[in-house]
Amino acid sequence: MRVRPLLAGEIRISEHFARCPDGALGPWRGLLSQVLRRDLRWSPVPVYLLEHPREGPIVIDTGYAADAASDPARTLGPATGLLFQHRPYDLDVLLERAGVRAADVGLVVMTHLHSDHASGIERFAHAEVVADAREWRAADRGGSGLSTGGYVTKLIRAIPRRRVVEVDGPRSRPLGPFAHTLDLLGDGSITLLSTPGHTPGHCSILLRTGSGRELLVAADAADHAAQIRRPAPTVAMTDRSAFLASQVTLGQYAALHPDTLMIPGHDPGFWPFLDEVYA
Ligand SMILES: [Zn+2]
Repeated sequence: MRVRPLLAGEIRISEHFARCPDGALGPWRGLLSQVLRRDLRWSPVPVYLLEHPREGPIVIDTGYAADAASDPARTLGPATGLLFQHRPYDLDVLLERAGVRAADVGLVVMTHLHSDHASGIERFAHAEVVADAREWRAADRGGSGLSTGGYVTKLIRAIPRRRVVEVDGPRSRPLGPFAHTLDLLGDGSITLLSTPGHTPGHCSILLRTGSGRELLVAADAADHAAQIRRPAPTVAMTDRSAFLASQVTLGQYAALHPDTLMIPGHDPGFWPFLDEVYA
């Protein structure tokens, strides 16, 4: 399997929103920074194109909808659409450059269903969309609070082909420090790692390339690389202690596997150092 990290867009996030100041009021101070547009940084919105020898093209997360710039509220929702500025890039063009059409993608693996990851989902209408059962439930329910307002339920409910997996269910296995993981295709190439806390069913994803190289897509379990070394909260959490525990686990995995490339979710300082393709 080959892995191509694609920069599907950028989202302008306050540094203190992604990684909050310490203390009980930290998340509120982080939110205030975002509202007042302090310490903003354009941060990557990643999609990963996987070229699997048997399954063909697979994507992790979906980037932005084609109309995300002109009509952000439709697929990003009022919270994410208004709170952040967005620079959507054309994912169809990025896929084409890699020789893939969105219609050829048979499987979409979602780290979680927040709108900055799911906005582009309609582009993959023929694909089966995989997410953890807890995540489907949270996204179907939606809400308007700080921890529930990140979903656009209408977009999620319209997904035609859902695949609900239980990453902490009966088929789940421990893997090193991770208590609950699921080998999605049964060949070790894509392993979902339960890393809840940012959202109830958030998964980080361990990828193994054809040459045996490991990449760990932390996604929003750790917005910044520094949170893997030193756990720190973010503004958007459904469970603070689970969020911090997930970062501890990511850090333990990184220490045990120094050759694994740990990729944070929205770290502008990290993204430029990624290779175009990992074979
Ligand atoms: Zn998120």
